[in-house]
Amino acid sequence: MEVAAGSAKIRLMMGDITKVPVDVVVNAANSDLIGGGGVDGAVHRAGGPSIMLELNRIRPVNGCPTGGAVVTGAGNLPAKFVVHAVGPIWRGGRSGEDLDLASAYKTSLELASARGAATVSFPSISTGAYGYPAGLAAAVALSTVAEFLRAGTSPIREVVFVLFDEGTLRAYEKALAGLRGGACAP
Ligand code: ADP
Repeated sequence: MEVAAGSAKIRLMMGDITKVPVDVVVNAANSDLIGGGGVDGAVHRAGGPSIMLELNRIRPVNGCPTGGAVVTGAGNLPAKFVVHAVGPIWRGGRSGEDLDLASAYKTSLELASARGAATVSFPSISTGAYGYPAGLAAAVALSTVAEFLRAGTSPIREVVFVLFDEGTLRAYEKALAGLRGGACAP
């Protein structure tokens, strides 16, 4: 499934994000940037040790705040850079999780744009170990990315969401269909 956003496009696919060639891969990291399971584990396994060595050099003293991100090289991944983005832990939805999640996507897109990326891949940030409901996360993820691309101020031509399981793919397909329905001017 694919939709236009300004002169760029947003695509959804099911797969392993470490296998999809792009300019910038976004990783769902934790604020310590010390490596975890899920997509982070897969990124470090496939990318090799150079990514963690670089994180060890650039890691901020208090870690990376929720909604923030840092960039490293991509080691052995089929990409030029990895953006390590810190999504929020789901605490029921009244702790500003939606704003933090939107910030993780927007910061990642800004960092990728600053590196001249034409293609960027995202996993479903926060919907694994961090427990964010997939349908709600998909709506935030897709609207944030669409708004960023529609502004037309970035070299990014394509954003691909690489989703790991059928249920998550379906949640994103539903949210993307909602996005295509158009919007009222304020
Ligand atoms: P978080 O801690 O932000 O919730 P997780 O890595 O636990 O991050 O999960 C985020 C999403 O990434 C989940 O939907 C999980 O199934 C998915 N995921 C895990 N491994 C991969 C992979 N190799 N490629 C793409 N998505 C993956």
